[in-house]
Amino acid sequence: MSALEHVLTELAEIFGDRISRGEAVREHHAHGEGWQEGCLPGAVIFAESTEEVSAVLKACNEHSVPVVAFGGGTSLEGHVTPSETGISLDLSRMTRILEVNAEDMDCRVEAGVTRHALNAYLRDSGLFFPVDPGGESTLGGMCATRASGTAAVRYGTMRENTLGLTVVLADGRVMRTGGRVRKSATGYDLTRLFVGSEGTLGIITEVQLRLHGQPEAVATAVCQFEKLEDAVNVAVTTMQLGLPVGRMELMDEVQMDACIRYSKMEGYDVLPTMFFEFHGAPAAVKEQVETMESVVDDHNGKGFLWSNNPENRNELWKARHNAFWACLAYRPNHRGLATDAVVPVSALTELITGSKRDIEESGLLAPIVGHVGDGNFHTVILVPPEPDGLERALELDRKIVGRALSLGGACSGEHGIGFGKKEFMEREHGSVALDVMRMMKKSFDPNNILNPGKMLPEVAG
Ligand SMILES: Cc1cc2nc3c(=O)[nH]c(=O)nc-3n(C[C@H](O)[C@H](O)[C@H](O)COP(=O)(O)OP(=O)(O)OC[C@H]3O[C@@H](n4cnc5c(N)ncnc54)[C@H](O)[C@@H]3O)c2cc1C
Repeated sequence: MSALEHVLTELAEIFGDRISRGEAVREHHAHGEGWQEGCLPGAVIFAESTEEVSAVLKACNEHSVPVVAFGGGTSLEGHVTPSETGISLDLSRMTRILEVNAEDMDCRVEAGVTRHALNAYLRDSGLFFPVDPGGESTLGGMCATRASGTAAVRYGTMRENTLGLTVVLADGRVMRTGGRVRKSATGYDLTRLFVGSEGTLGIITEVQLRLHGQPEAVATAVCQFEKLEDAVNVAVTTMQLGLPVGRMELMDEVQMDACIRYSKMEGYDVLPTMFFEFHGAPAAVKEQVETMESVVDDHNGKGFLWSNNPENRNELWKARHNAFWACLAYRPNHRGLATDAVVPVSALTELITGSKRDIEESGLLAPIVGHVGDGNFHTVILVPPEPDGLERALELDRKIVGRALSLGGACSGEHGIGFGKKEFMEREHGSVALDVMRMMKKSFDPNNILNPGKMLPEVAG
């Protein structure tokens, strides 16, 4: 009997028909939303509690069977794609909201709760959770990728919003990290270690999160520019002035064209465009809008339009959140390869204008969209269906990442490493830091069962 069969036989009594070996279920769990390829998991197990996750890891560790945690499957760098046949451990049924402490503005949820479900639950409480990556991502997956999104410029990323975790270690032991306090000076910061660990050090089953008060007033504004450079400079100036924008996003003219078509956006030209959102008391929001209008004027912006109508706002941000799908629909027979470079905000204009030149020289179509207040932008490189299409797209990604690294930046601001960005780890972190990461991996997961082959490049030779 193979090691996998041993594990499945041992777990059959606990999980029954929550172990699936069907082709369609395994196929669904073999990839996220990225372009990377790997193999199918041998089986998918649907866990419903920390104890069940512990039982799976204990059995897998004993038999050295690989386990890939699966949340919403929305990651973009091959994170959930198995490198070896093993188990995909699906946590999406762990959907209990365990506590909401309104006075302290925190909550504890199971790993499979989605950000949408949490915000629907919080709607009447006056609180909300601000981190908003794509689609039906789970809070466990968002912790594991250290996700952010459009509101990170104001409220921070998963790093700033995760107070504590329940983690199942590779041998099945259960550990709690952090807690409910806003600060603590007690021991190594294990919470931060697991946030961004991509399922390679342990499996997160519960998350303690920081919540925020729903703003009293919200306004959105849009402005278009003849030159991409002017639009990016608005973002840089805004950050340097310390204007507390709630959101600040850029789309270049190609991304605007894709969004206008996909989301039927009316009244916009096909030009570089900035979208803003302002949060606060009504008078503060009004003041922020006025300051932004003058910043935009100074950078040749045209048609600055603002609104506090919630319907306009929802439409605008829905179009922004659908930008990735708009890109894929723009050239239907192409795949999308998302880049995710980030730099200190003062270097952003150089990064984006340089990357735009790289895109033009490559002859590829690659719309630009960016969380520019954080110094972070994406292109969705549309991979042509020709035999050398993927290699050309990867070459462009390498150029953009190289540019970001030489400006003091990083290859990924929020999507993470998975398989896709592994090749940049050594250049970004250096060999000593990588050795330390490998030592940590080995001490948490000596049998290398947790999402093997991801994040850390293999040692050469
Ligand atoms: C259209 C679109 C837009 C996006 N926009 C953004 C964006 O703005 N910002 C951003 O940050 N990301 C964005 N993403 C990427 C993606 O949504 C995030 O990476 C998200 O955090 C992944 O969550 P998930 O639940 O889908 O995780 P999965 O894809 O299921 O898993 C991601 C990784 O985490 C591990 N994992 C999952 N759950 C756990 C767990 N409980 N314990 C331990 N490890 C676990 C998996 O093994 C895998 O390595 C976008 C994706 C798409 C498709």
